[in-house]
Parts: sequence; C-alpha cells; structure tokens
Amino acid sequence: MALMTGEEYVESMRKMNLNVYMFGEKIDDPVDNPVLRPSLNSVKATYDLAQMPEYEDLMTVTLEDGRKINRFANIHRNTDDLIKKVKMQRLCGQKTASCFQRCVGMDAFNAVWSTTYEIDKKYSTNYHENFKSYLRMVQDRDFTVDGAMTDPKGDRSLAPHAQPDLDLYLRVVEQREDGIVVRGAKAHQTGIINSQEVIVMPTVAMGPEDKDFAVSFAVPTDAEGITMIIGRQSCDTRKLEGSSMDVGNSEFGGVEALVVFDDVFVPNDRIFLNGEYEFAGMLVERFAGYHRQSYGGCKVGVGDVLIGAAALAADYNGVPKASHIKDKLIEMVHLNETLYCCGIACSAEGKPTESGNYLIDLLLANVCKQNVTRYPYEIARLAEDIAGGFMVTAPSEKDLRSPVVGPMVEKYLKGTAGVSTENRLKILRLIENLTLGTAAVGYRTESMHGAGSPQAQRIMISRQGSIGKKKELAKEIAKIRD
Ligand code: SF4
Ligand code: FE
Repeated sequence: MALMTGEEYVESMRKMNLNVYMFGEKIDDPVDNPVLRPSLNSVKATYDLAQMPEYEDLMTVTLEDGRKINRFANIHRNTDDLIKKVKMQRLCGQKTASCFQRCVGMDAFNAVWSTTYEIDKKYSTNYHENFKSYLRMVQDRDFTVDGAMTDPKGDRSLAPHAQPDLDLYLRVVEQREDGIVVRGAKAHQTGIINSQEVIVMPTVAMGPEDKDFAVSFAVPTDAEGITMIIGRQSCDTRKLEGSSMDVGNSEFGGVEALVVFDDVFVPNDRIFLNGEYEFAGMLVERFAGYHRQSYGGCKVGVGDVLIGAAALAADYNGVPKASHIKDKLIEMVHLNETLYCCGIACSAEGKPTESGNYLIDLLLANVCKQNVTRYPYEIARLAEDIAGGFMVTAPSEKDLRSPVVGPMVEKYLKGTAGVSTENRLKILRLIENLTLGTAAVGYRTESMHGAGSPQAQRIMISRQGSIGKKKELAKEIAKIRD
C-alpha cells in the first residue's frame, strides 16, 4: 500500500477496537470524541503534509528498493536523513502548535533496529529479522506506532526485581512455545490512542536479576488485555464548551495515557528482546538519544508559533516598535534557534552503528534536551510578559457574543485601531493555550520531562563529557608533566 492520505489514516483508526477510558468512562469512539479529536488531527497532519509536493522532500523518503515511505517510518541512512528528520519535526510543530506524536515510533524503530542487530550478533537470536519484517509491514501500511518506554517505577530507589509490586515495571510473566505473556504498565504514552501499533521497550539499564523485565516487542494497540487511561490536561474540558476561540488552538493537540498491559500475549515474531538484560541499557540510551534530538525540532516549531503569537499580541496592543518588546522578541528567537542549532548539530555529527543505521551524537543530543528543559520556559515567560494580563483575565467568547455585555467587552478590550477585539482575544487565547492550557503539556512540562527528566541528561553528559581528555589538554598547555 502506498502512503495513506490523512482521511485514510482517520478511517484506519476508526476501525481499531481500542480500550480507552477518560473521566472514568469507556470511550467507544475516541476518533470523534471532542476532547480527543484534536490529538488525532495532529497525527493526521503527518499524513496530510506528506501528500503535499512542497514538503515531499522532508516528509517522505524513497528507499533503495523504490518504495516511497513516510519519513516517520524511516531508518536513518546518513546524517542528511538525521537532519531532515529534525527539519520535518520543526515543520510539523509549526503546522500543529502541539505534539504530533508520531516521532516516538520513529525513534523506537531506529533504536530497536541497531540494538537487535547487536543482540543477534552476540547470541545468534533472531530479533533483527523479526524487527525487519515488522518494520516493513509498518512502512508498507503507513502505520503510526507508539514507542512505549516509561514504566511507573514505584519506589525509584529500587531495581525492577526489588519492587514490592513487581508489576510496576513491565515484565514477562509467562514464556510459551509460541510467544510470551507480559504484564505491567507504561506511563505518559504520547499518542497511543492515535497509533495502530505500539513498540514496548525497557526503561532502565538492567542486571541479571531483572532478566524478566528486559523485554521489547510490538503489538497492535487493540490487543487483548491493553487498557488506556487518558491523562488530564489543563483546560481540557473547554473543548466541550463549543467555543473554538476559548480553546486557543481548536484544531490540534496532543494526548498522553497510562497504558496497562494485563497479561498481553506477544507472538514470537514480534519479540525484539527477551531476557538479554545487558542490552536494555543500550536500547534505552539510543531511544532516549533519538528522542532528545527530536526535541530540537518539534519544540522549535511550536516555539515559532508562540513567538509569532507574542509578536501579534504586541502589534494588537499597539506597541510593536517599543524597544523592550523588540528586544524580548529577539531573545525568544535567539533561545528558540539555539535549540534548533542543537538538534541540527547532534544530527550532523551522527555516526553509523554496527547495523549501518545512523545514530545521533549522544553528547550533543543530551545537551540539546537539557537546553529544552529550560529555554521553552523562558520563551513562555517572555510571551506572557508581552501578551499582558488579558491572556488570563479576558472574558469568554460567550460574553463577547452576548447582547448585554458583548458591546462592553468589544469596547474595553479593544487594542490598536484596525484590529478587532475578536482577533486580539484569539491571539491571547492561543498564548494561553501554549503556555497554560492543553498545549502546555507538550510545550512546557513535556520540555522538562519528555525524553527523560533533566537529571537523566546530566548523567549522560557526565558520561560523555570527556573530562579526562580535557584535563590532558590543560596539562599540555600548562606544561605539566607527571
Ligand atoms: Fe514528537 Fe515532540 Fe511529541 Fe515527542 S514531544 S512525539 S518529539 S512532537
Ligand atoms: Fe515527547
């Protein structure tokens, strides 16, 4: 099958039989649920953009065998692929101003690809072949795949096997002739309700006693035994009020869920790691590295929209020429482009793995994500500064439309001449959405914790930072011979 259109993707999701809960109730039709639909639209954008000739080079890849696939299903073949990945993510961020979710699968594909190759080399297992045929299916059917890494983790000071409740890390509970049975959960699962498949990976490096927890596999998202519980977002129920203006970004959004695997069966040909615990760390490090690179693209694209919104708010307030406003916008651009520099740099410095696919420079990818834990907060602070207090105190659209108070809102919330109060309110609501509302999950707090919390990057930076080599450089210059 060729690339799916956005509509075909939506129809394919309609056919899934997902077990989704929200507000304590089973959601029979997540595709058309008003709270969830914007998140589906963001994934749909990755299909729509791939159909547009002007984005073909970024959004699609033609493989050596002639197959044309969506770049979200690509195995990076060189540094050019890595760079185009980041550019594609910036584009998708610009077009959706939210998390478009499909990257976790792409990052899982590339991490599992190289890790399974290395496991097979050591143990003569068949994981790489399993993964190759799985990937081919995903590419040919143009599927969206969730990459599931984060376990709930219980007591953080204890290893998986030492937890009082062993289910707090996902594990194999039964080895069968025809496959395995797994139990546990994955938290914060970006886009799982909008994915046809999920790839599960371990979440930490593991020792011999954690063997049962060292497992990676793929299953359809509607496999027997999977339950998804939707995470709340700030202002989520505004989507039920019928005002697109009050939502700020009514068309697009992101979504996360707690996903429970209650004795899910995985057939042998969908297993990519099963007990080879010493490879858990490699898989984690590579997936996290790719996803930390990703943030140098997606968050930058969303940042572009936020900077544009702040600049419009300044225009509508009549202060575009004020020097402090210009300076704040410059600072926002500077911070945003610094993140992009990191995304491009870790891609340009990428190197081939033993399997042949390209891995980003891990030190630079971790520096990228470390900056992402900070700069979007500062960009958001400056946007709030420029927007002014009405971004959090403006009345609702219903008030604007009211025959009684509407004229008062119209008159007293007017900005500069020639700009309607309605447009001014729209841009303030967009800033609210990005900094405090539903999209703030993706732009703010996900910048902190997504792809690993700040300390996880600092551990990698300390490992990769070559302090020893730097000491040698200093000794050389200072002429210290010991
Ligand atoms: Fe993609 Fe960014 Fe969302 Fe991760 S946070 S899935 S990189 S858009
Ligand atoms: Fe993320």
